[in-house]
Amino acid sequence: MKTPASLVRDEIRALTAYHVSPAEGMVKLDAMENPYRLPARIAEALARRLAEVPVNRYPDPAAPGLKARLREAMGIDDSLEVLVGNGSDEILQIVTLALARPGAAVLSVEPSFVVYRMAALAAGMRYVGVPLKEDFTLDERAVMAAIERERPALTWIAYPNNPTGNLFPREAILRIVAASPGLVAVDEAYYAFSGGASMLAEVGRHPNLIVVRTVSKLGLAGLRLGLAIGAREWLHEFEKLRMPYNVGSLNAAAGEFLLGERAELERQTRAILAERTRLEAALDAMPRVRRFPSAANFILARVPDGPGAFEALRARGILVRTFHGSHPLLAHSLRLTVGTPDENTRMLEALTTALG
Ligand code: PMP
Repeated sequence: MKTPASLVRDEIRALTAYHVSPAEGMVKLDAMENPYRLPARIAEALARRLAEVPVNRYPDPAAPGLKARLREAMGIDDSLEVLVGNGSDEILQIVTLALARPGAAVLSVEPSFVVYRMAALAAGMRYVGVPLKEDFTLDERAVMAAIERERPALTWIAYPNNPTGNLFPREAILRIVAASPGLVAVDEAYYAFSGGASMLAEVGRHPNLIVVRTVSKLGLAGLRLGLAIGAREWLHEFEKLRMPYNVGSLNAAAGEFLLGERAELERQTRAILAERTRLEAALDAMPRVRRFPSAANFILARVPDGPGAFEALRARGILVRTFHGSHPLLAHSLRLTVGTPDENTRMLEALTTALG
């Protein structure tokens, strides 16, 4: 039979496509975006810069200007290499593919970022998810036992974690790196909100550690630029799996230009951090809400009726993310992206009403 049912691999047919909710006209607090637009001065200068890009030519795959700016903006040591991807999603896929020996396992904690599992299954690997504790802290003993049992070729640690928002202890991550027979990839998508917590300084000190980052949460999600940072030996192999022109020349030029304007992006990040503090206090004052600690630009909160609260917010034009039904530890949980002060106030008012 020439049908998808008979030809597409079973594990792909069993997947569900990454879900993005329609958000037209909504207060959009569902996808960890920076809520601020570029100021007109910067947007106009960007347009002038992009007008110079020779779009008749393929991009320069080495992207030297963009990489130099990323190095400067993120403080990446000269001894380390950088691989740029079409969002860090693509980096996750490249790293996974590189390690996809038949029968090899990918390990992560659960709940965490769903793309680790999707990429593993797409690459034909086994996926092992080790549950976090009830309060979303790391069950280090269970992770160590799984490493011993499964001998994973690749372990993902999101630092801070999504969708829980917390940071696992740095020393525990280093113990995981030391105990792992495979590569440990620390995904620092939310590093800008972590108060300086990062494993970047450890890369190069361990033969099996890389860091993955993105510019998405800095206010540049539309550009789709992510990166892997690691020793030359690793990145040399990943480079072979990067499709020749994976980052468009307009995106690369925009990234290079806007990372040069990062004082503005950093101002926006500080505003988000201030609002996170305000939101945390407001959620803590709601007796029926359990709010979990966040080192990211979103807050996970458990309410008595998650699906009901989600729908009540949506009816008031506010889109958040519901995780009810996705993992037992996330029952009745909402992930609230930190928005502008006005958006957050509207969200809090709607939540207060929804909770009665
Ligand atoms: N890693 C984590 C932990 C994330 O939460 C996300 C975004 N949801 C990504 C990676 C992917 O980000 P991007 O592809 O926009 O770089």
